[in-house]
Amino acid sequence: MQRFTGKTTVVTGAASGIGAATALRLASEGATVVLADIADTAGEAVAKSIVDGGGRATYVRCDVSSPKEWQRLRDLTHQIAGPADVVHNNAFIHLPGAAHELAEDAWAREITVNLTALYLAARTFVSDLRSTKGCFVATSSVHANFGLPGHPAYAASKGGICALIRQLAVEYGPEVRFNSVLPGPILTDVWNEVSEADQRLSARATALDRLGAASEVASAVAFLASDDASFITGTELVVDGGWSVKKESK
Ligand code: NAD
Repeated sequence: MQRFTGKTTVVTGAASGIGAATALRLASEGATVVLADIADTAGEAVAKSIVDGGGRATYVRCDVSSPKEWQRLRDLTHQIAGPADVVHNNAFIHLPGAAHELAEDAWAREITVNLTALYLAARTFVSDLRSTKGCFVATSSVHANFGLPGHPAYAASKGGICALIRQLAVEYGPEVRFNSVLPGPILTDVWNEVSEADQRLSARATALDRLGAASEVASAVAFLASDDASFITGTELVVDGGWSVKKESK
């Protein structure tokens, strides 16, 4: 499949995990990919691996919590490949702690990086996407819909992403599609500090009895970003191996 030939695509959090897998997938289908992140060495390496494989990719440093850096990302994207056809908003941080323990600045920081960045992304790129009749995909999480103790800011930010995506879909609907993906447990670097036993427990919580791969989320993002999803907007695509539907009770 070459669904993105001639398309300019922007992926945040592209230095690792789901963002890197999405960058690779879009590039493998012909896109020019602008990879944005704050992990410069890793981001440069992902871009290089795409270019070494014959694809088109450039790494641009962008802290998604900074309006100025979003503006710079847009300016550089225009210089590199012209207006964006696809934006994948995916970068995040996770600062756990129950609400009564979580410091106010940690709450604010997580909401800014995970949720306010989506508003900044839309504000920065919507004129591009209107002109290209493009589309936008945000990475939310199954935590938008389910509570797990100790993750209030993460859950709020991910629920906010789904709500904002619906709003943006309605606001800019005739020209731009907006959708979100809701991954379940996906084996990326964020799982490095989780013990093997706990990883196994999370795998068992899925109907497919395994953790997902970043490439499996990237496939869903690529679908939503492609013309295959031309009548899909304002929706949430759950990519969780059945984690959301599996219940064990007697
Ligand atoms: P990851 O840690 O591999 O990638 C996240 C990237 O975001 C990193 O490269 C990091 O440098 C970047 N980043 C952090 N702060 C940034 C900032 N201020 N500006 C720019 N970039 C920044 O994580 P991942 O597992 O690939 O997660 C990607 C997305 O998937 C996140 O939105 C996460 O909430 C979501 N998700 C992941 C899982 C999972 O199990 N891995 C489950 C549900 C949802």
